[in-house]
Amino acid sequence: MPEQCSVCGFRYEIELGFYWGAMYMSYGLSVLIVVIVGLSLYHFAGDPPTWVYLTVVASIVVLFTSVLFRYARVMMLYFFGSVRYDAKYQQGNK
Ligand SMILES: [Zn+2]
Repeated sequence: MPEQCSVCGFRYEIELGFYWGAMYMSYGLSVLIVVIVGLSLYHFAGDPPTWVYLTVVASIVVLFTSVLFRYARVMMLYFFGSVRYDAKYQQGNK
């Protein structure tokens, strides 16, 4: 993660350890994926054996790890870093 935004110069690290909370966001997103995938398997695959649930859910969560990591940090910035989207800073819109 870069230290500053290349467009507006915003410092991403609000305070030391700011992104510790992102772990909880990431955990919440992982649980959401587990629930959605689990319910989908139950509904569309006709309640397969437990090993299928474990394999599919674990694979999908591992596949999405980098996405969850990134979005958890973005959510942390939006919810607790007082960062708001501003179209005038959109790249190519200067
Ligand atoms: Zn920026």
